[in-house]
Amino acid sequence: MKNSKPCLIQAPANIQASYEAAINENPNNAPTSSSGRKKRSVGEHQRFWRPGRTLKIAITDYGDGGHEIVKNAINQWAPHVNLTFEFVTLIDDEELYEGDIRIYLTPLSNAVMYSAIGTDALTEPSHLHTMQLGTDYSSAGYESLVMHEFGHALGFLHEHQHPDASIPWDKEKTYLQYARQFGWSREFVDGAVFPLPRDADRSYEPYDRHSIMHYNVLNTCTIGDWEQPVNLKLSAGDKAAALKFYP
Ligand SMILES: [Zn+2]
Repeated sequence: MKNSKPCLIQAPANIQASYEAAINENPNNAPTSSSGRKKRSVGEHQRFWRPGRTLKIAITDYGDGGHEIVKNAINQWAPHVNLTFEFVTLIDDEELYEGDIRIYLTPLSNAVMYSAIGTDALTEPSHLHTMQLGTDYSSAGYESLVMHEFGHALGFLHEHQHPDASIPWDKEKTYLQYARQFGWSREFVDGAVFPLPRDADRSYEPYDRHSIMHYNVLNTCTIGDWEQPVNLKLSAGDKAAALKFYP
């Protein structure tokens, strides 16, 4: 856990395909202008699945219990979303991959965990996985990492990058920390850690430091006494957002 690399948001390979997949799946994904009108523009669309649908979720099964552990972690979202989760085994055959969400469990201990954001999974070639998770099932916080990645698969972004995130970052110390710990450049930290500008085409839920979608923040990276340990459970805010986008 301590050594696992931070999760990275995957930008879609093709933004136009991402837009079309999102809107075809769920018209509410279209960006909304300040007047409340739906706009036809590509880029800052949301990527939520159609409420009420069944999501087929394929997960690698090595027969080591990992498949069940991942499935149980994902199922913690189930009571809060109007979706039916159908779990299948990810078949390691280029012809036979199935599943709207395809989760590869990698035995590489230093691999980055990542997931396509929501409906971006629909734009991935069907023989490729859409999420990668590690296999250190017994490590502290493994379940919370799976819940975090599945939050991305449901269409949620990183909470620590919320435009209202009130984290008193010490930027220079943060650059140093991420360079030392993960080898990240300053530009990389700017793109993945610090708040993103407010987008007028998006509505935001209130900033929630207890969200499962929030990175942990070390005290050494902030001014004054401010830290955020790893969030291990879905927060009240996570549950409210799940209900809002999957009514
Ligand atoms: Zn993430």
